[in-house]
Amino acid sequence: MGIIVFGAPGSGKGTHTEILSAHYNLKKISLGDILREEVKADTALGREVKNYMDRGELVPDEIVARVIENNLNENNFILEGYPRNIKQAQMLEDILRKKNIKIDNFIYLNVTWETIFERLSKRRVCIKCGQNYHLKNMPPKKEGVCDKCSGELIIRDDDRKEVIKNRWNIFLKEGLQILNFYRKRTNFIEVDASRNSEEVFLDIKAKLKKTSFAQCSS
Ligand code: AMP
Repeated sequence: MGIIVFGAPGSGKGTHTEILSAHYNLKKISLGDILREEVKADTALGREVKNYMDRGELVPDEIVARVIENNLNENNFILEGYPRNIKQAQMLEDILRKKNIKIDNFIYLNVTWETIFERLSKRRVCIKCGQNYHLKNMPPKKEGVCDKCSGELIIRDDDRKEVIKNRWNIFLKEGLQILNFYRKRTNFIEVDASRNSEEVFLDIKAKLKKTSFAQCSS
């Protein structure tokens, strides 16, 4: 079964994708994570996308479609961070058709700008192992140091204040069209994602139950 997780930057896409992928045993495809790994490893693709990412801009559609095509190879998957505009949604339809893969559920994590700003501006990430922290809700035991590996905690380049605003504006511009596109085509699940992750997960789980998917793996 195929799931798309959609929402503004900071809506909790990464967290919920992780939880759902473990719970339902789905292959996780997180485009942002894949691109960040390429940048970190300084590959040809990483060098191509780094500048866009640092500015909080979308990487060109043709480049990300190639990445998705290479990673989308089975029917049980959860896709996060893609598509982010209507052109990408159409390109994804072509990829799915070619590979005979289906999207069953579309999960929209709905949050306000205030929540997003609070989450992202206080997010810190370990430079070594990638573990995320939040200065208020999930602070590290020792300031600036990762609990897991003692790596240095930094602000992601695209979590700087001016970049957060830019990413939010892009989301507003493209988001509505994406929602309309998938409302008609999938089991469309909308949840209030400003609540804590446990509550959001339970809400999603209850709504996923309406499909054939959850009947066989609840
Ligand atoms: P994320 O971690 O999902 O917020 O993504 C981090 C960055 O990766 C974005 O700000 C974009 O530069 C790039 N990116 C992620 N997903 C896409 C996408 N669907 N299309 C283009 N660029 C993307």
